[in-house]
Amino acid sequence: MDYLPLFHNLKGRNILVIGGGEIALRKVRLVQEASAIITIVAKDFCPDLLEMDARDKEHGCNGLHLITDGYQHHHMLDLANIVMVIAATNDRDLNRLVSEHAQAANILSNVVDDPKFSTVIFPSIVDRSPIQIAISSGGDAPVLVRLLRTRFEALLPAGMSKLGSLAGSFRERVKAKFSNGSDRKAFWEEVFHGPIAEQAYANNLDEAERMLAHKLESTDEFKTGEVYLVGGGPGDPDLLTFKALRLMQQADIVLYDRLVSKEVLNLVRRDATRIYVGKTAGNHSVTQDNINQKLVDYALEGNRVVRLKGGDPFIFGRGGEEIETLAEHGIPFQVVPGITAASGCASYAGIPLTHRDHAQSVRFIAGHLRSGKMDLNWPELVQPNQTLVFYMGLNGMETICNQLKEHGLDAQTPAALIEKGTTDRQQVFIGDLDSLPEIVRKAGAKAPTLIIVGHVVSLHDKLAWFNVTEKTQ
Ligand code: SAH
Repeated sequence: MDYLPLFHNLKGRNILVIGGGEIALRKVRLVQEASAIITIVAKDFCPDLLEMDARDKEHGCNGLHLITDGYQHHHMLDLANIVMVIAATNDRDLNRLVSEHAQAANILSNVVDDPKFSTVIFPSIVDRSPIQIAISSGGDAPVLVRLLRTRFEALLPAGMSKLGSLAGSFRERVKAKFSNGSDRKAFWEEVFHGPIAEQAYANNLDEAERMLAHKLESTDEFKTGEVYLVGGGPGDPDLLTFKALRLMQQADIVLYDRLVSKEVLNLVRRDATRIYVGKTAGNHSVTQDNINQKLVDYALEGNRVVRLKGGDPFIFGRGGEEIETLAEHGIPFQVVPGITAASGCASYAGIPLTHRDHAQSVRFIAGHLRSGKMDLNWPELVQPNQTLVFYMGLNGMETICNQLKEHGLDAQTPAALIEKGTTDRQQVFIGDLDSLPEIVRKAGAKAPTLIIVGHVVSLHDKLAWFNVTEKTQ
């Protein structure tokens, strides 16, 4: 960025202009609009400047301070508290000299049509004060700037200015009424998109003001439609985050799926509408597209929607897809991470996922069968010193164990299956790649289950601490 755009409050500040011709006139008009005190030094002044000065004085203003003289360095020094110098003569060298003097005194300097010798440049301005757009190309493409300005002029209704002032006059009252920032935002968005804005654009200011006052009075509880994608953890309600609990307590509507435990669901606000969007025994009762659309629809109705998911929403949870749809519709959302099954089950089964002596890395793998097959990069999975965690692996367990052996893992590599981890129904089955499928089959384990493969599983014997009723070999 070559220039930092700033909006300069020049009210009552001293500006020195060198030059009295047409070029100076344009700049003088601009800074005068900003209510600066203007001193102009020139050998002579164009008629428009003289007239401007006369008119000002007639209206009881201070007028311009016109000094008929050639530029001298002392002009800069004479003027106390001067904030900006504009060099606008038709003598290029003189302009540059003026700028040098200004810069030596740390005063902002503008040389007309000579950006290289300026410390500040004037942008092209679309003025709907208090709304203003400043456009600049840093002197590189003035024609492009002019084109852009024409577009913005057409884009911004002239009444934008009125609407801006009206909003300014209500700002404090709106702030006092809605202490919550997102409520304030929603209130103003409605004002700027709705009939109140239209009235202001149509110059019906009294009506716009009356409507705005009425809206402020009648909007008691302002609800912003928003979606919270919340990770509900693996089952134990104590593993929820504070934020998850807080948002669950505020929800109007909760969409949850099968993995969310009863205990967790019980913590949702009592009056909230609960909608089950899970799958029933392999048949997709509600499609993903359908869920995405429901989230959008409920939020657009102004609801606070909690999308409650098992574990962490961004780990095998399709959380990304759901918020993508929300983002496309411009609906505000937040994502609250949860404890993923791998973390929860491993901790509650006393199986550290990494350990200095056994595993330096851990992989989370989707282990479900697709048309009876599992398309995984097996050679990568059998690398030494890593722990493998398979989600959704119950049906494909036999395939998992066989493939790992076939690709070189020892048949005696310890392996565990954790059923309903972290809940009071948790069961842990321990074996190895050879024996585990049979153990699990005999026990009739039911989803949700998680499979952990690797030497860290051998630590379970020593470290198990929770609900210790597991069946071992
Ligand atoms: N987003 C979730 C995972 C969804 S995929 C998370 O981060 O945990 C669903 C799989 O998660 C299940 O098939 C199972 O493998 C695993 N899972 C979830 N909760 C579990 C639990 N309490 N015990 C065992 N496995 C669980």
